[in-house]
Amino acid sequence: MNNQQLWQAILGHLEVSLSKANFNTWLKNTYILDKTEDTITVSVPSTYHKDWISSKYNPEMLKALKGIAPEIKIIHYQIGSSVHKQEQNYTQNQTEQIPTENTYQPNKAGASTPQQINIPQTSNQNQSNLNPRYVFDSFIIGKNNELAHAAALAVAKNPGTQYNPLFIYGGVGLGKTHLMHAVANRLLADNPRAKVMYLTSEKFTNDYINAISSKRMEDFKQYYRTVDMLLVDDIQFIAGKESTQEEFFHTFNELRDKGRQIIITADRLPKEIPAIEQRLVSRFEWGMVADIGAPDLETRVAILHTKLSKKGVSLAEDIVYYIAENIQNNVRELEGALNKLLVFGEMENKEVTIEQAKNILQSMLNNKKKGITVRKIVSLVAEFYNVTGDDLIKQSRRQEFVKPRQIAMFIARQELASSFPSIGEFFGGRDHTTVMHAVEKIQKMLNEKESFKQEIDLIMDKLYTT
Ligand code: ADP
Ligand code: MG
Repeated sequence: MNNQQLWQAILGHLEVSLSKANFNTWLKNTYILDKTEDTITVSVPSTYHKDWISSKYNPEMLKALKGIAPEIKIIHYQIGSSVHKQEQNYTQNQTEQIPTENTYQPNKAGASTPQQINIPQTSNQNQSNLNPRYVFDSFIIGKNNELAHAAALAVAKNPGTQYNPLFIYGGVGLGKTHLMHAVANRLLADNPRAKVMYLTSEKFTNDYINAISSKRMEDFKQYYRTVDMLLVDDIQFIAGKESTQEEFFHTFNELRDKGRQIIITADRLPKEIPAIEQRLVSRFEWGMVADIGAPDLETRVAILHTKLSKKGVSLAEDIVYYIAENIQNNVRELEGALNKLLVFGEMENKEVTIEQAKNILQSMLNNKKKGITVRKIVSLVAEFYNVTGDDLIKQSRRQEFVKPRQIAMFIARQELASSFPSIGEFFGGRDHTTVMHAVEKIQKMLNEKESFKQEIDLIMDKLYTT
C-alpha cells in the first residue's frame, strides 16, 4: 500500500463518522508527506487545522491504523506547502500554474528602482487570471440582473459584434465581476487560444505608470491592444487619472475598431463617474449599459439553496429564509452569513437551530466592521500562522512571514477598504505597489484553491467573532 492509498483508507474510516461538511473542512486537503517505521507525517493546510485534527481526530485515526497498518503508532502533523500533492495529481496534465510562495519577491520598500511591469505573455496565464467558479452555470438569474445576464450571454455567444462595449454597473457584491468572468470563461471554453485580459482599472493604471518609468511603453501597447477580449473591472477608479484615461481611450478605440470585445464594470453609470473625460463616457455608452440591482427575496433564497446544494449540506428552511430576509444588499455577505452558520454547525457537530442562527447573524450584523482595525487583522493573522505581529510589519523577507503578511494586507484591503498606500504605510512603510501585488496574489490563490479559501474563511470568522 502506498502512502496515498494508506491515507485514503484512514480517511475512509473517518468519513463514515463525520458530516460531509465537517470532513471537507478539516480533512479534504490533507495527505501523507512521509512514512517511517512507526510514524506517518501528515500535511495539513494550517495551524488551525493541525490543532483541530490532532485534538479531535487523532484517536480515531490511530484506531483505524490498527486495522490497516498496525506498525504505525505516531501521527505527526505538518503545515503543508502551498503546492498540494493531491492537486498536483489532478492537474498534472494541465499547464496551469499553482503559485508558490517562492514565485513572488516583494519589492523592497522604498526602493527606487523601476518596478517590472507585469505583462502576461501567454494565454495560459490569462486563464489563471479568471476565477474558474465564476461561470454562467453558477450565476442565479433574478429580476435584478436578468438584463445584465442576457447581455453577457449575448456577448459570450458573439463577442465583438452587438454589444461592444458591455458596461455593467451596480453596487458592491452583486455579481458584476462574476458575470464578467463568466463571459471570458465561456469564450475560453469555446476557444482556448483566445487572448483574454482581465484586470482592475487600478492595475491598468499601475501597469501604465510602470511601463512609462521602465520605458516599455511599446510592450504595453502591444500587449493591451492585441487582446481578443479586455475586461476592466471597477473602472470608476480611473477617475482623475488623466494620462491613464488618455491611454485607455486609445486602447479602447483600437480594440473596438478591430472588433475585439471590451467589458467594463463600475459602481455607477458612466456619466456619474466623477473626473472622467467626456469622450470616454460617450464611448462607454456606445454599446450596452446594463445594471445589476439588489436581488429580491426569491433570488436571495435561490442563491442560498444553490450554494447549499453545491456544498452538499442542508439547512432548515426557516434559517435559510432568516438569512435571506436579513441580508438584502450584498450577495457576498449573503454567502458569508451562510458559511458562518455552516462552520458553527460543523464545530458543534450538530444542526444549527433557528435561535442560534439568529444570535450568530445578529452579532454578525452588529459587529460588522465595528472594532475591526488593521492592527487587529495583523494580530489575528499572525496568531493563526504562529508568527508575531512584528514579523509581519518588519522588513524581513523570510518566506514564513511573506504569506501571512500578504494575507493581512489582503484582508485589510477587503474588510476595511483601506487605500493601498495607507496599508503600505502601516506595514512598515512599504510601497503601495507591494500591497497591490499582495492583494492580487492572494485573490488569485483564493480563486485557485478551495483549501486556501477555507483557511481565509477561518481567519475571517475569528475576525468577526473575537
Ligand atoms: P461585484 O463584482 O459586483 O462586487 P462579485 O461578482 O464579486 O460582485 O460577487 C460577489 C459574490 O457573490 C461572488 O462570490 C459571486 O459568485 C456571488 N454572486 C453574486 N451574484 C450572484 C448570482 N446572481 N448568483 C450566484 N452568485 C452570485
Ligand atoms: Mg467586483
